[in-house]
Amino acid sequence: MQAEADQQLLKIVHDRKRILSQEEDLVSYGYDASFGFYRPDLVVQATSSEEVAGVLKLANRFKIPVTPRGQASSLSGGPLPVKGGIVLDVSQWNQKLVIDSEDLVAVVSPGVVTAQIDKAAAKYGLMYPPDPSSSRVSTIAGNLAENSGGPRCLKYGVTKDYVIGLEVVTPQGEIIRTGGRTVKNVTGYDLTKLIVGSEGTLGVITEATLRLMPRPPASRTIMIIFDRFVDSGKMVSKILTSGILPAKVEMMDQASIRAVEAYRPLGLPTDAEAILLVALDGHPAAIDDESDKIKEVAKATGARSVSIARSDEEARKLWKARKLVSPAIVRSKPTKISEDATVPRSKIPEFCARLQEIKKKYHIDLVVFGHAGDGNLHPNIICDKRNKEEMKVVEKAVEAIFRAALDLGGTLSGEHGIGTMKSAYMPWEFSPESLDMMKRIKNAWDPNNILNPSKIFPVPGQRLVLSE
Ligand SMILES: Cc1cc2nc3c(=O)[nH]c(=O)nc-3n(C[C@H](O)[C@H](O)[C@H](O)COP(=O)(O)OP(=O)(O)OC[C@H]3O[C@@H](n4cnc5c(N)ncnc54)[C@H](O)[C@@H]3O)c2cc1C
Repeated sequence: MQAEADQQLLKIVHDRKRILSQEEDLVSYGYDASFGFYRPDLVVQATSSEEVAGVLKLANRFKIPVTPRGQASSLSGGPLPVKGGIVLDVSQWNQKLVIDSEDLVAVVSPGVVTAQIDKAAAKYGLMYPPDPSSSRVSTIAGNLAENSGGPRCLKYGVTKDYVIGLEVVTPQGEIIRTGGRTVKNVTGYDLTKLIVGSEGTLGVITEATLRLMPRPPASRTIMIIFDRFVDSGKMVSKILTSGILPAKVEMMDQASIRAVEAYRPLGLPTDAEAILLVALDGHPAAIDDESDKIKEVAKATGARSVSIARSDEEARKLWKARKLVSPAIVRSKPTKISEDATVPRSKIPEFCARLQEIKKKYHIDLVVFGHAGDGNLHPNIICDKRNKEEMKVVEKAVEAIFRAALDLGGTLSGEHGIGTMKSAYMPWEFSPESLDMMKRIKNAWDPNNILNPSKIFPVPGQRLVLSE
């Protein structure tokens, strides 16, 4: 049967170079940016909808699992082939990037790198707002499947707010279109939104039509320094209730500040407990008013200082500091458990306090940074996965972080998705009835459970898998 499946595959994907079966290829396709490793049996680098449809029909016939994959920057295990089978890599399929400046849309193939869309839009004075920190490496298909967010999403919304149409291949190999090219569209069920955020479990995205916006004429970056971490959380809540909506409000705690300074000295204050970086954008006069307001709020919240970047170069340097946090914090130990539990905005100060308690209680190397403005802090635990005892404690700390976020009315994941890493905790957030409704949707789309199996839903007896 295996030999027959291989023969059939060659009829679907004519270019043998795009079918990978060498051991070194299979091993490298067994990782993403998260924690696990699962080796696939075969990799297909698809470059057309017909190929994807052919692979999925074949997979249904022979009951072979298929895992879609972009650039594997997922932090939740989404593109890992947990059940083996075929990894369907769309990262080579990046040829189409059409900007229509009259309809204000971009039409893109799945493997286009996200930052390229915004860059292409900029030539027309337009912008594609979703900007995950990984936007220079991650694909639009990966962003759509995870419903990715980013710093700018505070003001502009996340990936789902910008997709108006999709071409999707269903798990049974039918090519369908959802939505369209109009901004308003309420015709039928909104399958576009169902596919967005479905983590590659309901269909393979083969083309996307994305909404674009006019690029704001001016922007300004403000750095606010705090002696107390909790005050930075209070400041976030106060900014958001002060009547202004910044484009970005990003947080770095003391551990992130120190890690960045040790890695690439930029002159950040290493004695501060937190820094907030705020970006305002819009009309220059509005930005002046809003900057004054931010200064007022900072004073009232007990900030140590407020400074405004005097040039684009200075602003770039500050944002570079924020981008350097991820690489900087893994220099002390090799493993980074990156969580993205999210809380309602009013609960940001309390979440900050709970994170500090968790850090002390479990004696863990906890670094907190991220998209504070939308309650999507990124508590990162720096550890060494080879140390089994340490990992047992880390597991407990991760569970405490999930519990804290849920107690405060939050959610397990604001943007990284559930994948394999958080599926065991889905029953903490959803009732059996809610989970069952989700499973019924999965079964209707994918009766043979071919597409990205073992993701999102808890497997009986499963728990967090950090220490095995
Ligand atoms: C340093 C760093 C910073 C990051 N910053 C952010 C951030 O700010 N915000 C954020 O949201 N995320 C962030 N991420 C996480 C990650 O980059 C995003 O989840 C991204 O969307 C993944 O894109 P990808 O192309 O790498 O997809 P992959 O990791 O390859 O896949 C992600 C998911 O998409 C599915 N998939 C891939 N292609 C398709 C397809 N064609 N059809 C259907 N499903 C598909 C996969 O099965 C998987 O479930 C960061 C990651 C890193 C390493």
